[in-house]
Amino acid sequence: MSKRNSAVLMRPRSTSIGKKPETVKVVVRCRPVNKKEEAMSHEKIVEVDVKLGQVSVRNPKSAGTLLKTFTFDAVYDALSKQYDLYDYSCKPLIDSVLLGFNGTIFAYGQTGTGKTYTMQGLPTDPEKLGVIPNSFQHIFTNISRSQNQQYLVRVSYLEIYQDEIRDLLCKDNCKKLELKENPELGVYVKDLSSVVTKNIKEIEHVMNLGNQSRSVGFTKMNERSSRSHAIFVVTIECSEMGVDGEEHIRVGKLNMVDLAGNERQSKTGVQGLRFKEAAKINLSLCALGNVISALVDGKNSHIPYRDSKLTRLLQDSLGGNSKTVMVATIGPSSCHYEETLSTLRFANRAKNIRNRPKINEDPKDALLREFQEEIARLKAQLEERGMLAKERRRRRNSVRMKRSMSTGEVETPKNLEVNIVEMVQEERAEEHWWKQQVGQMAKSSANNSPQVRRKLDMLDEKAKTVEDLLKEQQTMEVMIAKYKALESKLLIGGKNIIDHTNEQQRMLEIKRQEIAEQDRQERDMQQLMFEQDEETVELKETFSSLQQEVDLKTKKLRKLYAKLQLVRAEIGDIIDEHVTTRQELEQTLNELTREMKFKNLIIDNFIPPVEKNKIINRLHFDSEEDQWRILPLLPPDNKSPRFRQRPTSMVGCKRPMSQYAQVAVATGAPSRYRAENVMLLELDMAPPTMVPLDLEGAEMRMQDLLRDFGHHRRRTTESRVMRARSWYQGPSQAVPTPSSSEASGSQCPPSATGACAAALLQP
Ligand code: ADP
Ligand code: MG
Repeated sequence: MSKRNSAVLMRPRSTSIGKKPETVKVVVRCRPVNKKEEAMSHEKIVEVDVKLGQVSVRNPKSAGTLLKTFTFDAVYDALSKQYDLYDYSCKPLIDSVLLGFNGTIFAYGQTGTGKTYTMQGLPTDPEKLGVIPNSFQHIFTNISRSQNQQYLVRVSYLEIYQDEIRDLLCKDNCKKLELKENPELGVYVKDLSSVVTKNIKEIEHVMNLGNQSRSVGFTKMNERSSRSHAIFVVTIECSEMGVDGEEHIRVGKLNMVDLAGNERQSKTGVQGLRFKEAAKINLSLCALGNVISALVDGKNSHIPYRDSKLTRLLQDSLGGNSKTVMVATIGPSSCHYEETLSTLRFANRAKNIRNRPKINEDPKDALLREFQEEIARLKAQLEERGMLAKERRRRRNSVRMKRSMSTGEVETPKNLEVNIVEMVQEERAEEHWWKQQVGQMAKSSANNSPQVRRKLDMLDEKAKTVEDLLKEQQTMEVMIAKYKALESKLLIGGKNIIDHTNEQQRMLEIKRQEIAEQDRQERDMQQLMFEQDEETVELKETFSSLQQEVDLKTKKLRKLYAKLQLVRAEIGDIIDEHVTTRQELEQTLNELTREMKFKNLIIDNFIPPVEKNKIINRLHFDSEEDQWRILPLLPPDNKSPRFRQRPTSMVGCKRPMSQYAQVAVATGAPSRYRAENVMLLELDMAPPTMVPLDLEGAEMRMQDLLRDFGHHRRRTTESRVMRARSWYQGPSQAVPTPSSSEASGSQCPPSATGACAAALLQP
């Protein structure tokens, strides 16, 4: 058996294998009863049949009614372990991603039912790690076991909060990112950061960084983490030699999505910002539901992906080029009956979505290709430099070089580094030798003798060579560092394949996978048998008497009647649900209308109609980016010299001027800048009042002192007012007389002097 590939990584012979449609896998997980529910003694209304893959819910309000039962690809009860769900429902999908398929795992459900627990888990306990950290282990173990393949793993982490996309791996994570679409790349997030990771430790570190960015919001905005959709994206690029002798690159993209809670906003009783958040969440989840309905319905060719950013981002995962697993999480208690039922109905509909996954071979945006090309370019440059250096040494007759040239020693970056370092050392030694020679000759003969001068020239030449070599060494070092950094990012497997324990582990995994597959088949058979059971029983029945036939048929009628009641009740429930959804949408609509009225009021009262019309004429809706844009005043390619000049703010003036300033300029005021000031705010430089202090006649002197001070203050105020209007040389009637200023000054308290001065200056 070839050691190359583990069974899970067997590559399909043809990409067409992946093109057949396959349905979205839907699994349901019910969490244990929590302490709060225990304390409130809520009854348990959910029953999980793991073997049959069925979940049944009882209506707590009507005791006699039949259970509502739903069948899924797999169900997990409160006792289920994290690795049960991962091994059975997620591992096969991650194997497909390693083969070049796109894959999506998303958790959907009410807040507090275990979406984050399922996706992230508890980092402190290895048994409780969620799908995301478990997938890291799986990806890197598989890469290390592969052979003759080169991998590049990169990750991105984003969240959609209030229908805005934020990058969780970027420092400035408040920046809103835009969604773009192009025929080659599909829908993508512009400027989303992507981090290349080389091992489990690095990828975990990146995940934790992103989680911290989410939790900042959590403390600041209370429960934000459950109020945003988080998407962790792992892109795995793999390069392998094809049968045609060419390198081919496959790219698999794994989206792991932790959706916001789908509870009703009426139930949460939120207001203000919280209400807005809830409305946005409900709108995006509603859009998700509509997309699923449209896909399942099949009658409508239009699928409303564009209704929300979430559905646009998950476009490929729902009905497109992706394998998808949906984990619907529910709680077991009666208090969440409506949400549980709504989640199960949603999940039940999603079961029927058909995707068309295919292997993504040689896509144009493969980063691995860029890396490989850059590495090849650097290598070629280094080799060229290395050959030149070698040639230089060969000319200098180095014995070692001759030997290495004759044996055809391979030029690795390490060799090049060693070569250049050795050359520098040799040249330095020679330089030193020449220095000694020059020193000795200078002692024995005159400094300007021809011999000494020649040797000095040689010494200069050596010094220059050493300098050149040092520069060359520096350039080479930079290039080698870049080369090494790039090469280290590319992962090559095959290191552990001989490891015996690894081999055993691999076999164990294959066996576990086989068992899981058998379980799946068994469950499918059981489900089929269950459905056919009633029909077969009926066919087999023979009746010995008419009475027996009547009895049996009556029994059957009762059974069918009960079923009819169940269906009627279901219809009633669905109508109720639609009514509630409609009411909520109406409430959201009312909120939005109110907000629009508020903004219209501001526009009508504070923006002149002419300006408003001008802006409206320049607006246009960019459906690509789902944004309004203001068109530029001039087309960008307009090169008319008239428009290249700086526009003057006002005819005749270079900058806007107040009315006072214009009057002042017209009447010949000394400076334009001075004229623009309404008041002069220069410091008053009047000398301080000096009063001799006579302690003996203290009381009498104090009265004098106060009187002098009051007088001085009045004088200062007057001089200030005079100064303030001193710039203004306008018509004489506008300038108040000193007596009138004194009169009004006397009416004003000293603190209001400025205001009085301004009043005096009114034309
Ligand atoms: P959500 O993300 O859906 O709002 P969480 O994942 O935060 O909910 O879960 C809420 C709480 O329930 C957490 O304390 C979590 O540890 C616990 N929990 C959820 N699911 C399970 C489970 N299957 N087993 C044990 N504890 C669980
Ligand atoms: Mg959560």
